[in-house]
Amino acid sequence: MSRISFSRKRVKLGQLLGIRARLALLAVILVAPLMLERARSLENARAKEIALASADLAGLARRSADTQREVISSVETVLKSAAYIRASAGGINRSCDLLRASLPSNLPWIRNVLLAGGDGHVQCSTNNTFVGLDVSDRPYVQTARVTGDIVFSDFVFIKEISTAVILAAYPVAAINRDSDALVIASISLEWMSRLMNNLGNRPGVSAALVDSSGVVLAAPSEQADAIGKPLDDLPLLSGITEAALGSHQDQGSLAHIAADGSTRKISFTRIAGTGARLVVGIDEDEVTASINRDIRTAYLQLLLVCLFVLLGALIAAEKLIIGPIGMLATMATRFGQGDWSARAVRRRLPAEFVPLARAFNAMAARLGQRERELLATNDRLTVIASLDMLSGLANRRGFQSRLDFEWLKAQQYGCELSLLMIDVDHFKLYNDTYGHPEGDACLTRLGGALSGIAAETMGFAGRYGGEEFCLLLPNTDGARACEIGEMVRRAVLDLALPHVTSIHHCVTVSVGVACTRPNERQHPGDLIEAADAALYAAKHRGRNTVVEQGFEQIVLSASDDIAMAG
Ligand code: GH3
Ligand code: MG
Ligand code: MG
Repeated sequence: MSRISFSRKRVKLGQLLGIRARLALLAVILVAPLMLERARSLENARAKEIALASADLAGLARRSADTQREVISSVETVLKSAAYIRASAGGINRSCDLLRASLPSNLPWIRNVLLAGGDGHVQCSTNNTFVGLDVSDRPYVQTARVTGDIVFSDFVFIKEISTAVILAAYPVAAINRDSDALVIASISLEWMSRLMNNLGNRPGVSAALVDSSGVVLAAPSEQADAIGKPLDDLPLLSGITEAALGSHQDQGSLAHIAADGSTRKISFTRIAGTGARLVVGIDEDEVTASINRDIRTAYLQLLLVCLFVLLGALIAAEKLIIGPIGMLATMATRFGQGDWSARAVRRRLPAEFVPLARAFNAMAARLGQRERELLATNDRLTVIASLDMLSGLANRRGFQSRLDFEWLKAQQYGCELSLLMIDVDHFKLYNDTYGHPEGDACLTRLGGALSGIAAETMGFAGRYGGEEFCLLLPNTDGARACEIGEMVRRAVLDLALPHVTSIHHCVTVSVGVACTRPNERQHPGDLIEAADAALYAAKHRGRNTVVEQGFEQIVLSASDDIAMAG
């Protein structure tokens, strides 16, 4: 049962899938693994590219952090040397002079170096600002005094010069325990931002240097207005402050969905020795946009290749299979309709179809030959069926069809048509006297004589039945027909076939003649009837005679004709 339903399903599938669809399916099956492989390698390439881009940016962020770290370490160096000067130079004025003279000019991010006394008032400034300013309450100053180490401040906005800086404080006590002085350096945020510009020029990348409270210290130039504001104010980095700054790790990363809906990968790095962190956010979509574009192009190319393969398969199917099959089918149809000349043109077929076409052509040739033989046999049979073998004349069937034909022809051209009915006299007696075979031979001789007269008179002779013959005379009037009837009677007499039991002592015939101009009201049978009636009359007149029957009369009344003939 299941086998039956399975094979039914196969039949349905077969009906559904034409040869074109099958070839297209085959092409797809062949191309699909290549396509899948290509798609897989593209996806791998995408993953690799994303990983590379991430690694590249992480490296970039690290390098930026390193650069910031160099800034910090240069500040540390300057502070330590300033503290040394303060500890060893003696008075504040000398220290101040030495400090101004020794401040390196190749560190543009150091705006100013200050020396503060134990009371927290600024005593010396390398650019003469802030002298006298009390910094004792500044948290970074207090922390530096407590820790005895360098301390960096958070973001500081200095009203006097309308500039934001970060400050670094270092107690001179770290070098000379007896000193309560303090060295302070102000660091330009503008310069720190400049160092970050290499981060900002990349698509999809946002970066900021933030202090421990989350205020932006430095940012690439296009985000410069964010400096001094909380990191949360940066649309693309908002919401990450807690995660980035709350971490105790020196560096780390996290995934973040920005306000614009983009998925950003955030990496943060602590600047060693400070509370500041460099935060870099990457928009993966933007970073991978060009890769995605390449992948889309590759998919499009794949699609085109598939379409071409499909198209190629369809064209090949059409040209190599469907077309030849169609051509052979057309040939077979023409052949079936009786066009025996139909042959498959081999040179237009693919090599695989040539044997089929050859076989088809051979079969067509054989069938054509057989058809011709059959037609010839049929023709022969038709002729045989219309022939009387004994007399060599047309038989009744042949005569009848010729009469119909001549009747129509005469009717069409308005000609006269005559008919002679010829009957052998006392033939029963002949048979009785000479035997049946001799009777047959006699009929053959009479047939020959009649055939000669028919040829001579453009007539058509036939054996009507038994010992009765007929001679159809187209385009012949009654008088001429009577003359020909007489020719027939005379010819038979001239044969001088002995017939001892006849009063003439030889074989004679009686001839009935009828003539008419065929029209729609008459039928060929009427002409036969008239000729028969005339023959009947001839027999009555004593045989071996010719009698013409008035055709119209016989049509009207056969009995009158008999009387007239009598
Ligand atoms: P009538 O002069 O009145 O025509 O007399 P008839 O004897 O010829 O006519 P009837 O109709 O009495 O006899 C015809 C004979 O013709 C009878 C039959 O044996 C003979 N006959 C008919 N066909 C053939 C044939 O094919 N061969 C031979 N040998 N005899 C035939
Ligand atoms: Mg007869
Ligand atoms: Mg007879």
